[in-house]
Amino acid sequence: MSEAQGVMFEPLPWLDAHWQRLWQTRRDGRLGHALLLTGPSGLGKRRFADLFAAALMCRQPGDDGLPCGRCADCELLRSGNHPDLIRVSPEAESKSGEIKADAVRELCSRQTMTASRGPVSVLQIAPAEAMNAFAANSLLKTLEEPVASTLLFLISEDPARLPATVVSRCQRITMLPPPADSAVAWLSTRVQAQAQGLDLDLLLRLAHGAPLRALALADGAWLAKREQGFRQFQAIAEGREDPLAGADAWQQLDPALVLDWLAGWISDLLRIAQAGASAQLSNPDKCAELADLAQGLTPRSAHHYLQQILRSKALAASSINRQLLFESLLVQWAQLARGAH
Ligand SMILES: [Zn+2]
Repeated sequence: MSEAQGVMFEPLPWLDAHWQRLWQTRRDGRLGHALLLTGPSGLGKRRFADLFAAALMCRQPGDDGLPCGRCADCELLRSGNHPDLIRVSPEAESKSGEIKADAVRELCSRQTMTASRGPVSVLQIAPAEAMNAFAANSLLKTLEEPVASTLLFLISEDPARLPATVVSRCQRITMLPPPADSAVAWLSTRVQAQAQGLDLDLLLRLAHGAPLRALALADGAWLAKREQGFRQFQAIAEGREDPLAGADAWQQLDPALVLDWLAGWISDLLRIAQAGASAQLSNPDKCAELADLAQGLTPRSAHHYLQQILRSKALAASSINRQLLFESLLVQWAQLARGAH
């Protein structure tokens, strides 16, 4: 079980259409027992699921279904103490990063009990693709024999990794990044951009268009780490830094984050190789440096390297030796950048 985390009551404007549709489905009595929320990270899938749970538990929801935020149930949800909202995620100390069968079994056995406070209980599994095969199997049994008073949310950035038997039993909601201008407008109400010298368009681009992710990146520490990571990436390419020393530094950071940077830089190099100066980059602030690095790069080898980074992203969530992973990737980068294949 993950630790208690309070529900945030502020709805996210770019998910409003999804909200209205789902609430209408509920009013029409067509709400299924299991919902699968998919889409890239940073769009607010968990927040959406939380808020919908609150809508079902609130004693005085508005006409649009939004919870009042003031009643006893809303207060319990806000403090993360409502007994009828149960979330399962990989345990923080888990080496495999998996959601194990025991956790799902426990969740599902709670389902057979009636909700403690009100008419409904909500179970949330996130990220759903972290369930191992045994866990997914346990869940399947529950999906086949749903309990009317329980709503299950599965939340996934990578639904292709979920068993088809699970997906087929869920109502699916696919969330996409909002238009950039409205995302930037929202960000500007959250971030003192000018005071902090931040470029919100750039942040949103670095966040692949996901507003909550961009908001998290607005923290100066992240930008500083990225800056340092990029300088190392550049120095290794130019033979000024030992890739093994670079690996040593990188393995101390969140591997998913570093691999995301690396994939973004290599993708941009490929874009420049293809479209030259007119290429639309994910890292427009590094345009000149990337253009230098792109010279002499063999697109085919760079493409092959990118595939390897993407495969490493799936591995990085497991118990893989990060030092070895980054050593291997950065030694290859050094070779690639020097034109040796
Ligand atoms: Zn309420």
